[in-house]
Amino acid sequence: MTTSAPVAPVSRRRRSVTSKSKQAKPKKNGFKKFWKLGFAEFNTDHFDISPDGELLVREGHFQYNIYDIIKKYGTSTEIVFPTIIENRVRDLIETFNAYCKILGYKGKFYYHYAMKANQNKEFVLPAITEGANLDVASANELFLVKRMLEQDKFHSKIRVVCNGPKTERYVQLIEELRAKGLTVVPIIENQAELDRLKKFKGEVGIRVNLDIRVAAHWDKRFNQFGFTESEVLRLGKIRNLSILHYHISTHIETIEGFVKPIKRAAELYAKLREKNPGLDTLDIGGGAGVPFEKKKRLYTGKSLISQIVRSAKKHFDRLGVKHPNLIVEWGSYVVAPAQITIYKITAEKTITGNGKSNGKKWYVIDGSFMNDLLDTWAIHQRWHIVPVNYLHTRRLQPAWLAGSSCDADDRYTAGGTYVPLPRLEDCPELYIAVFDTGAYQDALASHHCLLSSPAKLLATNGEVKIIRRRETPEEVGKLFGW
Ligand SMILES: *Cc1c(COP(=O)(O)O)cnc(C)c1O
Repeated sequence: MTTSAPVAPVSRRRRSVTSKSKQAKPKKNGFKKFWKLGFAEFNTDHFDISPDGELLVREGHFQYNIYDIIKKYGTSTEIVFPTIIENRVRDLIETFNAYCKILGYKGKFYYHYAMKANQNKEFVLPAITEGANLDVASANELFLVKRMLEQDKFHSKIRVVCNGPKTERYVQLIEELRAKGLTVVPIIENQAELDRLKKFKGEVGIRVNLDIRVAAHWDKRFNQFGFTESEVLRLGKIRNLSILHYHISTHIETIEGFVKPIKRAAELYAKLREKNPGLDTLDIGGGAGVPFEKKKRLYTGKSLISQIVRSAKKHFDRLGVKHPNLIVEWGSYVVAPAQITIYKITAEKTITGNGKSNGKKWYVIDGSFMNDLLDTWAIHQRWHIVPVNYLHTRRLQPAWLAGSSCDADDRYTAGGTYVPLPRLEDCPELYIAVFDTGAYQDALASHHCLLSSPAKLLATNGEVKIIRRRETPEEVGKLFGW
C-alpha cells in the first residue's frame, strides 16, 4: 500500500475505533478493501483475510495461512505460487485468441514467456505447462532450454525466440538446438550477427529500434538494441526472415504506449515484406504493466489485449497486408504477482530531520531492499505492502521501512509518503508481505553486507515446501572465496 494522502486513511481508521460500539461489525469488505485484497484489478484476487486478521492466499479450494507458514519457516522468506502463473498464462492466451476471433484478426497468436523476468524452474515450468513458448536473453538462459530438452520436458513444437547480443557460444547453442529439431529463432540485432548467421538454416527474426517514445519505467532516448528503421529498410533481402521484432520498454503505463508502436511497425513490416515474402510474424516484445502502485489506475489485461488486436487489424487492413501472426513476450505481467516476500519488523525508531520528528517511524526489517528487492533502489519501484498478521488492526502508524544492511539507501519510503502499518505497541510480532516480487528481483539479488538471501518456499496443491534454504554463513562466505 503506497498511499500519498498524508495520514488521511490512518485518522479515518482511528475514528472508526470510537464508533465501534454503535457499529458492531466492521463494514462489509472493510479491511479487505482498506488493504486492497481480493481485487482482480490489483492482482490480489487470490488474497484474503482470515477471521483472526491473518493473510490468506487461495488456490482453488485450497488456502494458505501465511502467518502459520512464517511461524514455521521464519523470515526473510519468499513464497512462490505457481497457480498464479498458470492462471495468468491461460487467461492471456485465451483472451488473445478470443479477441482475434471476435475482431476477425486472421493471424495466429503466440505467447512467448520472457525468461529473464524469472528463470527459476518453479516459474518457467508452470508457464510452459499452460502453453507458453519462450524468449531467452542470453546463452545461459538458452542452456536451460537445452536442459529441459534433455530431460524430455519440452514438446518439440515449442518455439524459442533468442534475443540479446549473440556471443559465439550463444550462436553455437542456437545451431546445436536447431539441429536437434527445436524451433529456435535468433533475433538479429546488428550487422555482425547478420553476417554470422548468413548460413543459418532455420528462420530468423530482425529487431528494429523504433523511433518512438512512450510513458514507461524504462524509456531510454537512446537504446543500444536493434537496427534503426532506415537501416532495416536498407538491408534488402534477409535469408529466412520470418519475424519483425521490437521491444519498447518495461512497464508501459498506457494502452497508447502499445498502440502507437504497432502503427509504426505495421508500416515497416509492409515495406520489409516487399523483399521478404516469408515474413509472417510481428513480435511486439514485452512491457505489459503490473499494478504495483495501488493509487494509480492501470489498464486491465483484457482492455490492453483488445486494443492491441484492434489496432493491428486496423493498420494491416489499411495497408492491405495479410494479418501477420502476433507474438507478445510479456514477462513481469505473468510472473510478478506469483511471489510475495515476507519480512519481520525487528525494531522501530523515531525519524528525525533537523531535530524534528515527521510523525513517521522507521520500521526495521530482517532483510534488505538493496539485496532482495533491488528495483526499490535501482528504479524507485513502488510496492504493495500489507501486514501478514493483525490485518484487523484499526490504529495504524505511518512508517518508512529500513533494510538491515548498513547502507543509507537500503530503505523504502513509498516515494516519500509512507506505508501505513499496525503499531508495534499493539502488535509486537509484526510481519509484512511485499506483493508482486516475482519479476526480476531474483536475478538482480545481491549480497551487500553479506546478508543472506531469503529462503524460497513453493506453495502448490495445498502444500508448502522449501525449494531454496535461507543461505548459511558458510554458503555466503564461499561466494567470496572463504
Ligand atoms: C525484458 C524483455 C521482455 C520482457 O519485458 P517485461 O516488461 O517483463 O514484459 C521482453 N522482450 C525483450 C526483448 C526484453 O528485453
